[in-house]
Amino acid sequence: MPCQSSDELKALVIEAKKYTKDGKVADYIPALGKANPKDLSIAIHYPDGPCISAGDIERKITLQSISKVISLALVLMDRGSDYVFDYVGMEPTGDPFNSIAKLETMIPAKPLNPMINAGALVVTHMIKGKSIEERFQRLVSFIRELTNDPTVNYCEEVARSEFETAHLNRALCYFLKQHKIIDEDVEQLLDLYTKQCAIEMNCLDLAKIGVVFAMDGVDPVSRRQIMPPDIARICKTFMVTCGMYNASGEFAIKIGIPAKSGVSGGIMGAVPGRFGIGIFGPALDEKGNSIAGIKLLELLSAKHSLSMF
Ligand code: GLU
Repeated sequence: MPCQSSDELKALVIEAKKYTKDGKVADYIPALGKANPKDLSIAIHYPDGPCISAGDIERKITLQSISKVISLALVLMDRGSDYVFDYVGMEPTGDPFNSIAKLETMIPAKPLNPMINAGALVVTHMIKGKSIEERFQRLVSFIRELTNDPTVNYCEEVARSEFETAHLNRALCYFLKQHKIIDEDVEQLLDLYTKQCAIEMNCLDLAKIGVVFAMDGVDPVSRRQIMPPDIARICKTFMVTCGMYNASGEFAIKIGIPAKSGVSGGIMGAVPGRFGIGIFGPALDEKGNSIAGIKLLELLSAKHSLSMF
């Protein structure tokens, strides 16, 4: 179903766009530095099919950290929650997403949650399959099912750019390997992880994934249960407690919906029982969240009482 342009969303985008000048595009992954900081777009996907949007929603963005929620859902289905949470915790950190600090002080050296890089690397390590290629294809197939878009794939340029510069993530992997939390070849795991982060799609696909989480794992279009309700619940809970980096508390108070952001400027939101949201605004605040995207959600949440609290 085509996405209808919405005057209400257009007005909110114009208002929120003013904040893009206070943000900065991520450039620690060199290929992400090419994004236009002034971009801002949004799509909302309702359970009964229709979609509304504003801005350039055809533009593709890489998932980056948004992929962490999806790989978590896949791994929970692959291995069950008891196994997964033996290796990764459930607590927010209050530290930046790529911090190594807590790993050193925690005994055992188990990452605090699956939304920080250390935890996400452990989750990616747990994706089942005989080879990197097979594990990656399983993740892509799952995402194609969630979006109902068989063309979803990854951006080779962004994956390569991150792979070549992922010194901090390499350090996290070696630390995890030393402490026997992972046991695979670090370069192989990084190959898989950087491809996972470079999976790309437009805001509409992002909103479609959001609506599946919002509807407890049911694809509202095909009516299929794509993931068990309990797994959708666990993922949404992590989105609330740690989905917006170390700004998750403020986000819960001001906006109050499960959401996950990525350093590409994407935000995937799931308003329980109501709709899914996909946002792209590459200018980031100092915590790594889309600065105008957060403003846009703040305006939307106030206007339509979206907070679940
Ligand atoms: N690929 C990015 C990294 O590991 C993801 C970070 C993010 O979006 O928060 O650094």
